[in-house]
Amino acid sequence: MIKFLDLHKINERFRTQMDERLKEVLDSGWYIHGKQDELFEENFAKYIGAKYCIGVANGLDALNIIIRAYGFGAGDEIIVPANTYIASILAISENNCTPVLVEPSLKTYNIDPDLIEDKITPRTKAIMVVHLYGQAVQMEKIWQIAKKHNLKIIEDSAQAHGAIYQGKRAGNLGDVAGFSFYPGKNLGCLGDGGAVTTNNDVLAAKIRAIANYGSDKKYHHIYKGINSRLDEFQAALLDIKLPFLDDDNKRRREIAKYYRENIKNPLIILPQVYAEEAHVWHIFAVRTTERERLQKYLEQNNIQTNIHYPTPPHKQGAYKEWQNQTYPISEEIHATELSLPISPVLTDEEVKKVVEVVNAWK
Ligand SMILES: *Cc1c(COP(=O)(O)O)cnc(C)c1O
Repeated sequence: MIKFLDLHKINERFRTQMDERLKEVLDSGWYIHGKQDELFEENFAKYIGAKYCIGVANGLDALNIIIRAYGFGAGDEIIVPANTYIASILAISENNCTPVLVEPSLKTYNIDPDLIEDKITPRTKAIMVVHLYGQAVQMEKIWQIAKKHNLKIIEDSAQAHGAIYQGKRAGNLGDVAGFSFYPGKNLGCLGDGGAVTTNNDVLAAKIRAIANYGSDKKYHHIYKGINSRLDEFQAALLDIKLPFLDDDNKRRREIAKYYRENIKNPLIILPQVYAEEAHVWHIFAVRTTERERLQKYLEQNNIQTNIHYPTPPHKQGAYKEWQNQTYPISEEIHATELSLPISPVLTDEEVKKVVEVVNAWK
């Protein structure tokens, strides 16, 4: 069986270092906000090219805390792509702001920059860009729009660790960014984890405080904060894996290139990429009008796949108020998308096998 994502194999590569570092943390007797967290925050900030990194409990919290730190609330609107993973939208709702959905482009599956300006009202506060499937959003036009209308740019970088646009990494392309280190992400821990990156001193301090009971120093609470912290074990594991992220992304690019050059099946639409370094291939998304039939066929041939995602956010029960709205492009993607296996531990033989089986599908 070719697994969609073999997390055990991915993490087994770091077994020796992990055993040592976990023992070190265990022996230290210090498990929250300590040496490991500080070290990882410093190294991840450096990697992203941002001045600050603040470890938090997960990716949803990262986005939620960002919006909270800006003080956006009821009546404020935040623009977000209609086809994103629901977490981006939940973070907006959680702060009582209104998510304003914008259709993606069928070329990139990212928010269509040409459709943003029409959705801006006097209540718009921010644009949340999502580097979906691992491809950095083409920011040029979005930078111009944000500047013109005085909007913040929040990046949902949960799928794009390491992606580069115009020489800068995702996480350093807007005012502030949220990351997830959920186990399946390109940089994943062994549990939940997340981070915020930013170059803004005041915002960074506020986010750090909000994530820690609103406390700027011990027992001194200046905000009505929450508890959202990256624990020492997860930080230690992430710090071990971070130096290998670029190599892992390189391997993902190799596999994606092989798929794109060798999958030749008129029933299947392959993903497009506008620049090699822009995409870190968190997901290799193909499309076909017979998605269920293709998935079943691949499963019969021992190839595991996934769907990202089967139902668009505006059709979810959580957002009944949107049930009558239509976003045809997003719906088209959700109805036709299938994710092929891609990961740094996939072997050449496995990649070849996927291509052969996909090409033989009729
Ligand atoms: C994974 C993910 C999140 C949420 O991250 P968690 O750590 O699971 O909370 C947010 N946005 C996107 C696009 C994601 O893929």
